Amino acid sequence: MQHIVIIGAGQAGAQTLISLRQGGFDGTISLIGDEPALPYQRPPLSKKFLAGEMEKAQLFFRPQAFYDKENIALYLGQRAEKIDPAAKIVTLTDGTELTYTQLMLSLGSRPRTLPIADTDYQNLFDIRTIADIEAIRPHFTAGKKLVIIGGGYIGLETAAVAQQMGLDTIIIEAAERILARVASPQIADFYERIHNEKGVQIITNMQVTEFATQNNGKNENENKISELRLSNGRTLAADLVVAGIGIVPNVELAEKAGLKIDNGIVVDEFARTSITDIYAGGDCTQHPNALLGRRLRLESVQNAIAQGKTAAAHILGEAKAYAEIPWFWSDQYDIKLQMAGLAIDYDRIILRGDDNTNSFALFYFNKTQLIAADAINRPAEFMAAKKLIHVAAEKNIQIDPAQLGDETSAPKDWVRTYR
Ligand code: NAP
Repeated sequence: MQHIVIIGAGQAGAQTLISLRQGGFDGTISLIGDEPALPYQRPPLSKKFLAGEMEKAQLFFRPQAFYDKENIALYLGQRAEKIDPAAKIVTLTDGTELTYTQLMLSLGSRPRTLPIADTDYQNLFDIRTIADIEAIRPHFTAGKKLVIIGGGYIGLETAAVAQQMGLDTIIIEAAERILARVASPQIADFYERIHNEKGVQIITNMQVTEFATQNNGKNENENKISELRLSNGRTLAADLVVAGIGIVPNVELAEKAGLKIDNGIVVDEFARTSITDIYAGGDCTQHPNALLGRRLRLESVQNAIAQGKTAAAHILGEAKAYAEIPWFWSDQYDIKLQMAGLAIDYDRIILRGDDNTNSFALFYFNKTQLIAADAINRPAEFMAAKKLIHVAAEKNIQIDPAQLGDETSAPKDWVRTYR
């Protein structure tokens, strides 16, 4: 009897088991997750769930009844401690041993911790889990002073929610600009303008060097940050602090089991790791992408879904190589950013529309090849560009930059032109 064990109950893990059952797999499936909750989607955590506009039950991919009906054994609130690839056994921290025929590692990632956060501060929060949001929510009230460390998507999306809820919000970013790892300078400038207009202060090129606590002596158990000292000597008062300074892929369990690691668990185009019958998917993998012509590690929902599907398909005997144009999105205030491709190594940008407004698109070219696009409140441009980038990479077709910049040329016609 086949027994597929999935370690990690995030997007990639959930997708794997859903695809296995949809693909007709009728053997045993066990899912191990270290959080107590059923598998859930993370994107709303820094958006609608934080804002209180979404119920917890809406976060779950499937209700409990699905796992009961599909006969999936859930080991939630438990951690896998050890993998023995020779004996094909996973051992949980409570000593439970699970013998697998195939193993899926969807281990995800964890927030990077601030080196100066040497103790547990009661008002220092991550934005990564349901528990994080439930802990921060009571503090999210109008007039509170919030300092966000890190100007990535976590920092910006949290700031947008906070500002709308009336908190007094400051973002501290170590790099020269916000979104340095994940977006072009043009997109960073756009968001800096929007946040400034809404009243969020953004300080770049700045480190937080120290936290000061103020204990008035009334409560010796209180350990709250009251002030942050910055690298220029300035101090900032705070009622609460959010850290969004990036993530670290969870590879330690795989490394201990002898799997090949190189900025993530190394997998091939079928999500296979360096050891037979062990697959991996999501944030924790370093994988090849034939369309991009390179190996990479991606922190994206879309990648977790695609690799979950790829692993399930291979386990079911259908080899479908993973090759996708990456895409991402971010919701801040009433602005939807949608990005396709990777805006790196470009030498030309075409602007469509006016980037002083809240509706425009940018197209990134490397020599003559379209490699990426960012769309601000322009869903039609995003959809068309995603297809064009795919076509351009797959068939080596050159896209006319002038057509993309011409507002009289409709996005729906673009793909037809180049098919
Ligand atoms: P991120 O995109 O890596 O951004 C973290 C930012 O914090 C970086 O700009 C980083 O600069 C900066 N930073 C690092 N150390 C710092 C310090 N000591 N002081 C001040 N700034 C510092 O990660 P994130 O925003 O924390 O997001 C975590 C994960 O969730 C990522 O995988 C992200 O893609 C994902 N996420 C995605 C979305 C979305 O796509 N809409 C939304 C939320 C979260 P350096 O690069 O110079 O270190």
